[in-house]
Amino acid sequence: MSARIARPLLLIALAAGCSKDSGAKSQPAPPTPAAKGAADTHAAADVKPGSHEDWCGEHAVPESQCTRCDAALIPAFKATRDWCEEHQLPLSQDKIHNPGLVITRPPKGE
Ligand SMILES: [Zn+2]
Ligand SMILES: [Zn+2]
Repeated sequence: MSARIARPLLLIALAAGCSKDSGAKSQPAPPTPAAKGAADTHAAADVKPGSHEDWCGEHAVPESQCTRCDAALIPAFKATRDWCEEHQLPLSQDKIHNPGLVITRPPKGE
C-alpha cells in the first residue's frame, strides 16, 4: 500500500539531490558527483550481505538479492523455487503477487 507512495517520493528525493530516507536515521553520504546518485541507491560491491549497507534503494530489497540489478542471481532463486515467472521476480520479493509483502532494511549494525 505504502509502496505506491514511497516510489514517487524517492524519485523526487533523488531528483532534488537529497539522500534522506523517510523515517530512517540519516547516514553519511559520500560526495559522488559523477555517479548521479547511484551510490546512494545501490550498495557497494564489498558490503556484507544482510547488513544495513546491503540494500538496493531502487528496488527496496537487499542488494545481494536484487535480481533486477544482478541477473546472475536469478538461477539461485529458481533453484529454490523462489521465483515468479510471470513477473520475473523472486516470489519473496514479488509485491505484485503479494501486495502486503514488506521487506525491511536491516538496522545499522556494528
Ligand atoms: Zn536493484
Ligand atoms: Zn508474481
